[in-house]
Amino acid sequence: MLPAAEAEAKILDLVSLPTEVEQVPLDAALGHILAHPIPSPLDFPHWDNSAMDGYAVRYDDVQGASAEAPVALTLTEAIPAGRSPTLPVGPGQAARILTGSMVPAGADTIVMQEVTQRQGDRVLVLEAPAPAQFVRHRGSYCRAGDPLMARGLAIGGPELAVLAAAQCIQVPVFPQLRVAILSTGDELVTPEMPLQPGQIVDSNQYALAALVRQAGAIPVSLGIVPDQPQALRAAIESALAQAEVIVSSGGVSVGDYDYVDEILAELGATLHICSVAVKPGKPLTVATFPAENGSAPLYFGLPGNPVSALVTFWRFVAPALRKRSGLGAGWGPVFVPAITRHALNAGGQRETYLWGRLEMAADGCSFELAGGGHISGNLINLAGTNALAIVPVGTQMIPAGETVRVMVVN
Ligand code: AMP
Ligand code: MG
Repeated sequence: MLPAAEAEAKILDLVSLPTEVEQVPLDAALGHILAHPIPSPLDFPHWDNSAMDGYAVRYDDVQGASAEAPVALTLTEAIPAGRSPTLPVGPGQAARILTGSMVPAGADTIVMQEVTQRQGDRVLVLEAPAPAQFVRHRGSYCRAGDPLMARGLAIGGPELAVLAAAQCIQVPVFPQLRVAILSTGDELVTPEMPLQPGQIVDSNQYALAALVRQAGAIPVSLGIVPDQPQALRAAIESALAQAEVIVSSGGVSVGDYDYVDEILAELGATLHICSVAVKPGKPLTVATFPAENGSAPLYFGLPGNPVSALVTFWRFVAPALRKRSGLGAGWGPVFVPAITRHALNAGGQRETYLWGRLEMAADGCSFELAGGGHISGNLINLAGTNALAIVPVGTQMIPAGETVRVMVVN
């Protein structure tokens, strides 16, 4: 049994980075990962412009202005945002300017409206500004040619804003990873089937498809496979033809009908991991198939119990998917310290993951253990989970009020 951290490192080592690149239109880029760095095609801001509604002035004219000795300036023109100034500002002159308007030639400082008094075609300046005040200078955020965004960045709302501003209408991204999902077990049925005695619904198919999507990949749901070696072999072969990563649940224990490892070996896969010292989730199979065009298809055989399947996905599969998808950094889970509100019990032999909610407050984080049984077959108290508290190997109980390491799961 491999310790969790070693298993994680070993898995990430097996995962290659993507090499293919595709172009997607800007409005379809959400959730993709940038495959090339994006240099800025333009200066940001594109021209000197005003950060305030007010008047564009020459600093030298107004440096002595005060309420007692206001400086009177003659107005040249009003410059709305979106239009070029038509006149320079000479000594003794000012232009009316609005937020975002281009600063006219000759002016170097903006006086905000609140410290002025308008008198027809003149304006009185009642306070001395700082030199260059409220001018956003051309290129002060970023210069043309400077890097705007790095390769490996996940594209969300802020990144789309930057790409749009840079007029990047075709975005170079890594193709989204396709992840096949198989559920093994004679007892499994789809949710619309009337349940016969002994049957249960294949809930893992839904949970795993959702987590694959959350990890930025495309789930290919391949349904239920009966516990028959030939059916399992055919299902894995079909999955290999459609996806780069296969995630199955069930059939990896030592039971009479657990065929996954045997079939993987038959199909020429290399088994790298068969069990990890975590609870829930001990029987975890990780294998690779011989590489075709550069990258080796990956196989994750998760335990069937619904909680075990989710915990092992969060802990070991999601980081692998993030790396394989081309994400530049932050593959692993996020761990934070939190005060546990309940005592946490564990066996002490394996790293134990207890599910519940991480609450963030001004005075720090706390962990609220989900009520009900913490056994791997009980999926009912999983709803609402956003974190797993971790009890390390060698510890049997963490009392309420103590700080515990918590893994954030969504
Ligand atoms: P296994 O790992 O195949 O021995 O399955 C362990 C337990 O998980 C059994 O009680 C199964 O009925 C249950 N199980 C297996 N696969 C699924 C699934 N896809 N959805 C829900 N429960 C499952
Ligand atoms: Mg089974």
